[in-house]
Amino acid sequence: MGDKAQIKGWCPGAWQPMASGDGLIVRVRPRHAELTRRQMLALCEAAQRWGSGVIDLTNRANLQLRGVREEAWHPLMKALVQARLVEDDPSLEARRNLLVAPDWQPGDATHQATTALLDQLAELPDLPAKVGFAVDAGESPVLAAHSADFRIERAATGQLLVRLDGRQRGTPVESPAAAVALIIRLAHWFAESGGHQSGRMRRHEGLLPPWAPESLPPAKSRPPFALGNHALGAVYGLRFGQVNAETLSQLLKTSDVECIRVTPWRRLLVTGVKARFLDGLLIDNQAPELKIDACPGAPYCEQATVGTRLLATHLAGATNGSLHVSGCPKGCARRLPADVCIVGRHGRYDLIFRGSADGTPHVTGLTASQVRHYFGVE
Ligand code: SF4
Repeated sequence: MGDKAQIKGWCPGAWQPMASGDGLIVRVRPRHAELTRRQMLALCEAAQRWGSGVIDLTNRANLQLRGVREEAWHPLMKALVQARLVEDDPSLEARRNLLVAPDWQPGDATHQATTALLDQLAELPDLPAKVGFAVDAGESPVLAAHSADFRIERAATGQLLVRLDGRQRGTPVESPAAAVALIIRLAHWFAESGGHQSGRMRRHEGLLPPWAPESLPPAKSRPPFALGNHALGAVYGLRFGQVNAETLSQLLKTSDVECIRVTPWRRLLVTGVKARFLDGLLIDNQAPELKIDACPGAPYCEQATVGTRLLATHLAGATNGSLHVSGCPKGCARRLPADVCIVGRHGRYDLIFRGSADGTPHVTGLTASQVRHYFGVE
């Protein structure tokens, strides 16, 4: 392990942490979308010891430690590798860009295919940094709204499929092992047929090879898990996708938690427990925060000239429909348009209605108190 973090300004990973306004961001990609109780406790301890004590859950179902000082990165990585939260081989870690349906059961198709793909990561070719995989082989897909270049899903007939991003139909396969073998073959085809130029499968032009016929569409997808009790445990929501390590530690120490599954919906599935109220976690499906997206903003992001989450908290329930508060027009927290989008520009806020953060503002140059006044919040 080198002594210095290789700091990147984009696409961060544990071995390529991203510099941010509050220190380094170190991203952990849980295998099988799951952390054991012991791993989660290790992550909470690491967040408190070497970071700012907060943990982000990203829309790729990864966990991020924030506020890591450069000199703390080396001992932090050692602890994360020891806890089997990070691969000790950076090239394997970079390939583990894998979304997994979080309600898998031991031995089912999602579990088998994920295990096979993780075991065979070294057989994948070099791929563009953002290329990712989704293993979503339950009765119907639950990750369809989340970007993945290569997917394992099921057709309405129950047949397993491999489907490429941007395609309506997939190629039927006989087993999870066959699905992974086909994905590896397709990944090589992608890399050898100009994948590095197109960057993502969605933009990749041309016909698929004849050995991957697209014949079946995936089954109709299901919605994300509701908050509260779930067949496997309890689903808790995270305000703005963030939680204090202290809150999670309390949950782990005061109940019979088996594991924590990560989802791309700012929700954690805590297995082996019943849902109960916990300060710092959401359990009410009507909570206004569920309709709000807000990036970290200032002072946590260097691109931001305004704060975001305090204003978003003040406005919770005050706007109709979805609300997006963004520190700058990049709009990291939400790609889709929102009913109300509040965007920081030169230390003030602009308002965009039914649009995205990079849209044309309808109202410009407000202070935070003017924004609150605009929406009737004092
Ligand atoms: S939207 Fe802008 S301010 Fe917010 S996290 Fe992204 S780059 Fe930073």
